[in-house]
Amino acid sequence: MAYIITKLCLDCKDIACTQVCPVDCIYEYSGDDTSIPKNQLLIDPDECIDCNACVPECPWEAIFEEEMVPEIFHEDIEINARIVGKPRFVPKRPEDKKMPSSQEVQANKEKWGYVA
Ligand code: SF4
Ligand code: SF4
Repeated sequence: MAYIITKLCLDCKDIACTQVCPVDCIYEYSGDDTSIPKNQLLIDPDECIDCNACVPECPWEAIFEEEMVPEIFHEDIEINARIVGKPRFVPKRPEDKKMPSSQEVQANKEKWGYVA
């Protein structure tokens, strides 16, 4: 079991989550494989200790426990696993990042067809 970052992170990537992960297992991909997205972060399922610390920290509500991943984002379970053993780093949060408004968070969900 592990926690999963879904497409709700795509292009949002404010990097609040890496600040709280106690085992630094939330990564940005830095290799050349185009099947692994760089415009979102990914959780290494072999390193995640299921502590839940990242979930309330994500302003875009993009992170789910694996069992709770909405069906519409199920392929993200496999996409997160692609980060295992690949070139990667733990990004730091830019100082100038603003928190999204609740309207922006809702619009991002609707963009992906996810109604929570
Ligand atoms: S806090 Fe959420 S939206 Fe931001 S980088 Fe982490 S998973 Fe992505
Ligand atoms: S659940 Fe805990 S260990 Fe897993 S990615 Fe989130 S903060 Fe890191």
